[in-house]
Amino acid sequence: MGTRVVIALGGNAILRPKQEATVEIQLKNLETSAEQIAKIEKLNYEVVLTHGNGPQVGNILRQNEVAKDVVPPAPLEVCNAESQGFIGYMMEQTIKNALRKNDSDATVVTLHTQTEVDRCDQAFQQPNKPIGIFYDEAEAEQLIKEKSWTMMEDAGRGYRRVVPSPMPLLIHGMDAISHLLSKNIIVIAGGGGGIPVYRDDEGMLHGLEAVIDKDRTGKKMAEQVNADVFMMLTDVPNVYINYGKPNQKKLEELSVAEAEQYMAEGHFADGSMGPKMEAAISFAKNGRKAIICALDEADLALQGKAGTIISG
Ligand code: ADP
Ligand code: MG
Repeated sequence: MGTRVVIALGGNAILRPKQEATVEIQLKNLETSAEQIAKIEKLNYEVVLTHGNGPQVGNILRQNEVAKDVVPPAPLEVCNAESQGFIGYMMEQTIKNALRKNDSDATVVTLHTQTEVDRCDQAFQQPNKPIGIFYDEAEAEQLIKEKSWTMMEDAGRGYRRVVPSPMPLLIHGMDAISHLLSKNIIVIAGGGGGIPVYRDDEGMLHGLEAVIDKDRTGKKMAEQVNADVFMMLTDVPNVYINYGKPNQKKLEELSVAEAEQYMAEGHFADGSMGPKMEAAISFAKNGRKAIICALDEADLALQGKAGTIISG
C-alpha cells in the first residue's frame, strides 16, 4: 500500500483571475496540476483530489439568473453538484491524458459527494460568503423580500447574495474511496467543498443553500480516509509571516505549536490563508503532515524540497 495523500487544488488550478471561463482555457490550465498528479502517482502515492468551484458555480448561478423565465433556477446545492460534474470531467480527462503520457496503468474516477453539516451550525445565523452576480440596491431589496436571501454590499461594487459556510461534519462515499484507492485508482471527490446536506430528525437527507470551504472539506476527507499527508496547492510557493510587508519571511518547516503561535499573531488572512492554516494545523495535530505549496511544486513539496510543511 502506498502513502496516502489528499490534495486540495486552489482556484487557480482551473481558472486564473481575469481569464475567460471557457472550457478550452480551463482544460489548458488543468494540465499543470494533471502533470503533478501523474508525477505523484509515479512516486507510488495513493491520491485523492478535491478542488474549489467559486468562479464555476458563480457562472452557473448567473446562467440560472439570466434564463430564469425559461428554465426554473436550481437551488445552490444543485448548482454545486453541477459544478462537481463538469469540473470533475475536465480534471479526470486531463489527468488520464497525463497518466497515459507517463505510461502509467493507474486510472481516475470522479465521485459526486454530499457533505453533511449541522443544521444548527452557527454559520446559519450569520451568512457571510458572497456568491454569484452583483445586483443594484433596488434589486437587492426585491430579492430579500421575494426569496428571503441575505444580501450584502461588496466593496462598493454592488450587492451580492451571501450564504452560510458551515463546518463539514461527515463526507459521504469514503468507503468507496478507500476501495478505489486500493485498486490503483485516483479519486476526485468533495469538489467545491461537497454538496451541502443535513439530516432531519427522522434521519432523512436534504440539500441546503450553503457553501462549504474546500480546504475544510479536504482536511475532513483526509481524516476520514486516514491519509498520511494533506496538501493544499495554491498560487503562492510558501506560507509567509508578515505577508506582503517588507519584512515578510517564508515558512518552510514548522511544528504545530509554531503554526498556532503565528496564527494567533494574525499572520494568515481570513478567507484565504486563514482557512488553509486552520485545516493544516488541525490535520497535523494527529501526528501527520500538512503541506501548503504552489501548484507546480507539489511533487517537490511531497519530497520535502518545496512549500511549507507543518508536522505534528
Ligand atoms: P485558493 O484558491 O488556493 O484557496 P486563496 O486565494 O484562498 O487561494 O489563498 C491563497 C492566497 O492567500 C494567496 O494568493 C495570498 O494572497 C493569500 N495569503 C494571505 N495571507 C498569506 C500568508 N500569510 N502567506 C501566504 N499567502 C497568504
Ligand atoms: Mg481559498
